[in-house]
Amino acid sequence: MLVVDGIHSYYGKSHVLEGVSLEVKAGELVTLLGRNGAGKTTTLRSIAGMVRPRAGSITFEGRETVGRESFQIARSGVAFVQESRGIFGLLTVEENLRVAERKGGRWSIEDVYQMFPRLRERRRNGGRALSGGEQQMLAIARALVNDPKILLLDEPTEGLAPVIVDEIVRILRGIRESGMPVLLVEQNIAVCEKLADRHYILEQGRIVYAGSRDDFAADPAVRDRYLALS
Ligand code: ATP
Repeated sequence: MLVVDGIHSYYGKSHVLEGVSLEVKAGELVTLLGRNGAGKTTTLRSIAGMVRPRAGSITFEGRETVGRESFQIARSGVAFVQESRGIFGLLTVEENLRVAERKGGRWSIEDVYQMFPRLRERRRNGGRALSGGEQQMLAIARALVNDPKILLLDEPTEGLAPVIVDEIVRILRGIRESGMPVLLVEQNIAVCEKLADRHYILEQGRIVYAGSRDDFAADPAVRDRYLALS
């Protein structure tokens, strides 16, 4: 469904991604792990068309996306939920959902309220009045009502209290069970282990590990080598 093949991405002269390849198949939840600065966000930004790789290819549903504008890539069904959550502070929760909603899509506003009961409770609150966790939920909910074909999520649990992290995990599990493919960037390994079908680890702009959930669980040395804080 999504195939990233040997991309090289730069910020100015700084060579950040040095031949990254990965794949997300239909219905899979795949995590991209790695230490700070490894290039995880840059990988998502490259897929979403916000950074243009200078070499390599990215295909989504068989179509090359490198060279297309980010709004065209979004329109083709690639939803990028960024750390800076992109919700409208002056609009209410419900208004935020309405402006994002694609009518006749797979997820109605009622569907997302069922999945995110907190958002239903907060439907008349302004975006600015939401907690960090609620903003993250709203950012994911907005992406869903826009009827994407794949979700790219950048550290959805970052900075959130454990009880909210559990709530986000429950929501992500529901999204996965709905069959929506997800590429998830996360630092919280416990979150990834609970959710992912497969994992990739990025280090200094290169994929240094790829494995199934079971392979990863059976090989704690991988975690120590690539993910432990040094
Ligand atoms: P983090 O978890 O810290 O966000 P990451 O794995 O997502 O890490 P990236 O944000 O992709 O890493 O950053 C990869 C490298 O690119 C880092 O060295 C970072 O300093 C650099 N970088 C990121 N954004 C920019 C930018 N806009 N301009 C220049 N350099 C950047």
